[in-house]
Amino acid sequence: MKLSYTEISTYQTCPLQYRFKYVEARPTEPSPSLSFGKSVHSALEWLYSAPTPDAPMQEQLIDRLETCWVSEGYASSEEETRYFYQAKAALEHYYRRYVQGGPGVFKLPAALEYKFRVDLGFCELSGVIDRLDRDDCDGFEIIDYKTNRRLPPARRLAGDLQLPLYHIAAERIWDIPVNKVTFHYLLIDHRHSMNVTPQRVEEALAEVERVAGCIERGELDPQQNNLCPWCDFLEDCPLMSGKVQSRRGSTASPALDIGQAVDELVITHDQVAHKLARVEGLKSIVAAYMADKGIDSVSGSRGLASYDEDGHLSWRDI
Ligand code: SF4
Repeated sequence: MKLSYTEISTYQTCPLQYRFKYVEARPTEPSPSLSFGKSVHSALEWLYSAPTPDAPMQEQLIDRLETCWVSEGYASSEEETRYFYQAKAALEHYYRRYVQGGPGVFKLPAALEYKFRVDLGFCELSGVIDRLDRDDCDGFEIIDYKTNRRLPPARRLAGDLQLPLYHIAAERIWDIPVNKVTFHYLLIDHRHSMNVTPQRVEEALAEVERVAGCIERGELDPQQNNLCPWCDFLEDCPLMSGKVQSRRGSTASPALDIGQAVDELVITHDQVAHKLARVEGLKSIVAAYMADKGIDSVSGSRGLASYDEDGHLSWRDI
């Protein structure tokens, strides 16, 4: 049996939802929260993938957010715009605090978006560790980014399996001491950290074994829960169909501040004009250098410039 944290969590919420999603592989609709989360994760992955010890500029991070923005699932372009501005504001705040916040604040992670598979004996556990950082006590900290708008209740956080399971995986994969595991709630900039005790490890493994056993025995009945109105399979559910109204697509999306949008438009236009002028200047410098040396390509640490078949100067990442 193979299980990921998401699959285990889905089973804990509702076994029938697990069956629809992972046994029958029924398709699910894209959603704003999923697309928003993917976009922010991608931008932060890029921030920490810099090939030099220096962090990229804040403007580059926001450019990157635009490039990797996932557009699917939004009900309208206005809704998508609201989400984009919230992602941008969260990343700008993140940058000010965790990149520009002082000497040594920005450090390259020990691992980034690491996809793992570990054998637990009774099942294979898989997942993705967003970030693994070295701490100041000769150990490591696992960080998982969250893009929820609100902090879950403490009791739910204490019982959640994700960080204990990632702790188990990291210790087995790298044979390292993991001193701390952290959920970083980016939209409210709150870090919820905990130590995973040996007792918590045992409890987490026992719960995964229980879930794996239930799935193997085919115990896949519906279980009513607070999230039923947002369930992808509400209409097919023998327990809830017709009893509650679907709330899929109705999210508490952030309000659009039109003044902020206009200001942003003016500032961005000025920045683009300035950058285009800079691009033209850099093209002249590179072209003059290549003409002087009699070469048709030249590289830096992040890119390569060369002449294409039509004799135009072009460039790409390397
Ligand atoms: S509607 Fe509720 S009970 Fe039915 S499958 Fe979805 S989560 Fe389970």
